[in-house]
Amino acid sequence: MSDNSNQQAAPQSEQPLSHDDIRNFLPAKNCLDGKTILVTGAGDGIGRVAALTYARYGATVLLLGRTSSKLEYVYDEIESFGGKQPAMLPMNLEGATYAEMQQLEGLIHKEVGQLDGLLHNAGMLGQLTPLEMYDVDTFAQVMKVNFTATFMLTQALLPLLKDADNGSVVFTSSSVGTHPRAFWGAYALSKQAVEGMSDIFTQETQNTTNLRFNCINPGGTRTNMRAHAFPGENPMSLKTPEDIMGGYVCLMSDESIGVRGQVVALQPKD
Ligand code: NDP
Repeated sequence: MSDNSNQQAAPQSEQPLSHDDIRNFLPAKNCLDGKTILVTGAGDGIGRVAALTYARYGATVLLLGRTSSKLEYVYDEIESFGGKQPAMLPMNLEGATYAEMQQLEGLIHKEVGQLDGLLHNAGMLGQLTPLEMYDVDTFAQVMKVNFTATFMLTQALLPLLKDADNGSVVFTSSSVGTHPRAFWGAYALSKQAVEGMSDIFTQETQNTTNLRFNCINPGGTRTNMRAHAFPGENPMSLKTPEDIMGGYVCLMSDESIGVRGQVVALQPKD
């Protein structure tokens, strides 16, 4: 936990890690020991594997998601390999209010006492269709889950995150967040907004706090969302969430202190 020195920016390491270093990161045993990390969308796909991986490397993991049964399963998996006792935070980001997120901040403060990392992983695809035909209700839904709720939750949790010795917020983008692509509609726009938000948070905090903000683009990864987006693709041709965890651990570990405002593509050729 912190003292007043946390209000000062961390000295930048002389040579911050390159994107290749982050992609190829081989985590040391227990490199997340002592850290508490909240993962959104922790019940399935990449978020589930990230939560399990953070726990394997010593973190206390707070599992946020909308399907309690899936969170319970991840909770049990962590307990089964002797990870630190996790916590389940059921929340549907589509309908969640800012007041509920502030309550969550209060609960974490009271029950856990610290928050060192926040992985914004939850996301939804929406429609793959021209903007001209895009259903406006679906548009709002995708923007709420992928972008607005991400902003709200970050802001609500900032007091805890700024109090951490070396806090890290990791947003999840996508190739279409960096390069707009026809027919990807609200999903692409929400990811572009997320990348912009990470950049603005970085500019606004880098001189006054140790807290760092970065984006991960996992690249094509074998999950339900990918299968919906590319139904004709052979899933066995894709990397698994486990394959890309080095980068996810790196950005939460103290090895990445000094890495700020980056969009790290974990599969740059994707
Ligand atoms: P999945 O669809 O497999 O998992 C998404 C997770 O987000 C699930 O746990 C889901 O919960 C949760 N979620 C969805 N909506 C809500 C909501 N309203 N409230 C709370 N939780 C919600 O997706 P992936 O694992 O593939 O994707 C993870 C992230 O990576 C996303 O942000 C995605 O955009 C991004 N990404 C993925 C790529 C890929 O190839 N897989 C490529 C580029 C980016 P539940 O299971 O309960 O529905």
